[in-house]
Amino acid sequence: MNKLFKKAVVTSLAVLFLVACDPIVDPTDSSTSPSNTDPDIIRPTTGIEVVDFYAVNDFHGAILENGNEPGLAKMATYLKEKKQINPEHTVLLSSGDMWQGSFEAYHSKGEVITEAMNNIGFDAMTIGNHEFDWGASYILENANKADFPFLGANIMKYPEWDEKSEVGVEYTILQKGALKIGVIGVIGQDQMTSICSRFVEDIYFSEQTPVIKSVANKLKRDHKVDIVILSIHADQDDVDYSIASGNYVDAVFNAHTHQVEQQVVNGIPYIQGGAKGQYVSYISLKFDYAKNKVVSTLKHENQSLVYKNIIADEEVSEIIDQYKEASDEAGAVYVGKATDYLDRYGTLVNLANYAAAQKAEEQGYDIDFVFANSAREYIDAGDIYYRDLFRGLPFDNAYYIVRAKGSDVLNQANRNYTYRVKDYGYINSNSYYTIAVLDYLILHQNIYKEYNYFSNYNPETDYLGFLDDSSDEPIYPRDLVKELFIKAPNQTINPAVYTGDRYNSITI
Ligand SMILES: [Zn+2]
Repeated sequence: MNKLFKKAVVTSLAVLFLVACDPIVDPTDSSTSPSNTDPDIIRPTTGIEVVDFYAVNDFHGAILENGNEPGLAKMATYLKEKKQINPEHTVLLSSGDMWQGSFEAYHSKGEVITEAMNNIGFDAMTIGNHEFDWGASYILENANKADFPFLGANIMKYPEWDEKSEVGVEYTILQKGALKIGVIGVIGQDQMTSICSRFVEDIYFSEQTPVIKSVANKLKRDHKVDIVILSIHADQDDVDYSIASGNYVDAVFNAHTHQVEQQVVNGIPYIQGGAKGQYVSYISLKFDYAKNKVVSTLKHENQSLVYKNIIADEEVSEIIDQYKEASDEAGAVYVGKATDYLDRYGTLVNLANYAAAQKAEEQGYDIDFVFANSAREYIDAGDIYYRDLFRGLPFDNAYYIVRAKGSDVLNQANRNYTYRVKDYGYINSNSYYTIAVLDYLILHQNIYKEYNYFSNYNPETDYLGFLDDSSDEPIYPRDLVKELFIKAPNQTINPAVYTGDRYNSITI
């Protein structure tokens, strides 16, 4: 085979691969393509190479410095400095849940963080469960803006089950000096149950272990990578130890449970670095060219950024400032005054449920009960601004109006916060009731996509509508509470009024 022809075959195979496996990423972006390995690089036959991996997990939108959270600009300085130590052979990874958790990140739906990650020079990010909090469309939008691939090898299409979804690619291959480093990204299968199923209607997470093994094999056999890294949005206890034997992966970066943890299984280092930028996980591997494999772990540690004397990175500070102006303005809107604090396990949810009942009546529904789960944070007494409401009720959950079977109503009333709109002394298990209920609860499914909180729910016959705002979009709990404050005399609410028999007890 002449050289030119050979090259053409290789190129067309690479193109085929991109079309088959990687539809969401720009095919001209070589970072997700096995063809990015430069044939001109001369690979040493002896000697060693030190490869440094730094990873961040569960950053949760902690953009601004806040107490023991260093903020995005300081984290940027730290990572950029680390990269300079070993510029040819450093890999920067994220293991997911980067965006959701602050008003600043919410306001641009993750874009501010994606832009900062581009500037810092991240090599890949694994998609976490909270990346789905606003719907998969925002993952695709951010993926288009990112200079690095979003990984999700076990994110499949539903109801096809075994076809790869366009959300997340299976892996990326990074050329670092003469080395090819494959990074596999996976999300814990059971995390499907912590995402509002409205946002993942056409997505299914397949079992992670077989996917990790098959992608690792593919990387080693077909793409001849030198090192395989697993970046998994799941705790180390949630990763089957069998992947640490049989030559599948060389290191594992964990996430999701916010633990500062590390362990070694069969010589393979696992690590997770807390949350909110407080730690950077560091693994340094020694690669032996003659043996053609990783021969040891040189470093394996979580490095704390808490209260470290770090100067904020100027470029990332500028990116943050550009977005902050808009979020500051929206967050500074005055909502009203609370005469006591609003409890995340009580009055704040009660207020949201009461407001939902009022809205349901306004929109012509005759409802019996309202259901919601706990809020995210309590809110202090005193003046309340929109930013405060967001902290307490950050999720974009809609109140659905549905018919629910009495047995499901009774069952879920024990597990959630309930507002009794009408007087019921006795709930008949076999009767149906009209309820306003957060989409997260009514649509909750197990990993096999079966309804399991309201197991009798049938969307065909039971769905009646959802509470909406003036533009027919769902109105979220924080906005319902905001309306309630604005309508209250002097915009002042006494949370104690929203307690008592009607709340959290559906039978008298
Ligand atoms: Zn998570």
